[in-house]
Amino acid sequence: MAKTTGNIKCSFCDRDKKDAKMLIAGINGHICDQCVSQAYRIVTSEAEQESQQFADDALNLLKPAGIKKFLDDYVIGQEQAKKVMSVAVYNHFKRVARSSKMDKEEEVEIEKSNLILVGETGTGKTLIARTIARLLNVPFCIADATVLTEAGYVGEDVESVLTRLLQASDYNVKAAERGIVFIDELDKIARKGDNPSITRDVSGEGVQQGLLKLLEGSIVNVPPQGGRKHPEAKMIQVNTKNILFICGGAFVGIEKIIAKRLNTQAVGYSSSANEQTIDRDNFLQYITPTDLKSFGLIPELIGRLPVLSYLSPLDALTLKRILTEPKNALIKQYQQLFEMEGTKLIFDDEALNFIVDKAVEYKLGARGLRSLCEAIMMDLMYELPSLKKAPVEFIVSLDYAREKLTRSTISRLKAA
Ligand code: ADP
Repeated sequence: MAKTTGNIKCSFCDRDKKDAKMLIAGINGHICDQCVSQAYRIVTSEAEQESQQFADDALNLLKPAGIKKFLDDYVIGQEQAKKVMSVAVYNHFKRVARSSKMDKEEEVEIEKSNLILVGETGTGKTLIARTIARLLNVPFCIADATVLTEAGYVGEDVESVLTRLLQASDYNVKAAERGIVFIDELDKIARKGDNPSITRDVSGEGVQQGLLKLLEGSIVNVPPQGGRKHPEAKMIQVNTKNILFICGGAFVGIEKIIAKRLNTQAVGYSSSANEQTIDRDNFLQYITPTDLKSFGLIPELIGRLPVLSYLSPLDALTLKRILTEPKNALIKQYQQLFEMEGTKLIFDDEALNFIVDKAVEYKLGARGLRSLCEAIMMDLMYELPSLKKAPVEFIVSLDYAREKLTRSTISRLKAA
């Protein structure tokens, strides 16, 4: 240990004060400028290696088909979106691996593959993003675009999106810098009409502008607590270069824009051929970036979300599969709960069809399956644990399901 009196030396390399440009004093010792630089190099190269290693490992382990297979275990249907997502994630890691290996002057730089998923609410957009994050074991957060406003106005700054990611990674900046951000309700920040009005569009176009710098990859100053309540808090610098952004939105009414475009294109000698091939039940499958522009997204934002895919509405058959097939399917969850009581829970096929029909009837989508099941299972879940001897088996029949549901509050939805 260097003495504070007499000959002061660097506690790390023993260099004398007179041989060093600078000697910084700590509580119990000193460090010279050269040791500071060396320590800095070690720390940064370690972080870079870590990121490189992460991307290399991801590439070795996961091919697009493997990613899709993992998604299949949790997300039912939505084949196109899952495929597009798998390729985008794979390319994202290729890009990360390349950019850390690449010499400055090397040829082609692969651009970021941020995505935009368009589809009705409750069709699985968040689920896909969440499942991908689970597979990659990276920090993941969901941000809501509706609460964002242009800097200086009531609401949250766009940087708060990254605050969430930092929180999800326990403020480990390096981990956050390769995380995934899901920005929901992107359609709600569409430009309000074409008319540049007298009032500023602070929650629409202003936010879109603000998002540009996050999406393209730059160093952003992020308030650690989010919001504007702590102006004194020290900002954390986050590089968004390797953060994957997935945006989602229902874009209600975009089908009309797509249909209109398809119809205008169909005019001409090839119109009859086009007419035949257009599937009028699901216009979303023909979505292009032009439609997003017509909806009110600015071209710069669309350009930074180069991968576009859609999610189809869920029909009764898909809803039934959602109920039973995913790894953590609702029915499997109830069966697990009852197994812990020593009871084997069986759902009759007719009961399952009944639940699905009600979800369709009440227009509840996949989200509603849970409330319907809860309504049916509540009494049983309440009574069973208090029984002296739990039954070995319990069958949820159509009659049982119907009876429980009619008595529950959810059945009042019908009147609504
Ligand atoms: P959104 O499209 O609004 O983001 P979510 O992904 O949040 O919808 O879906 C809501 C819930 O519905 C999910 O948590 C999941 O349980 C269920 N769900 C929706 N779509 C699917 C699907 N394709 N496969 C499996 N479950 C689904």
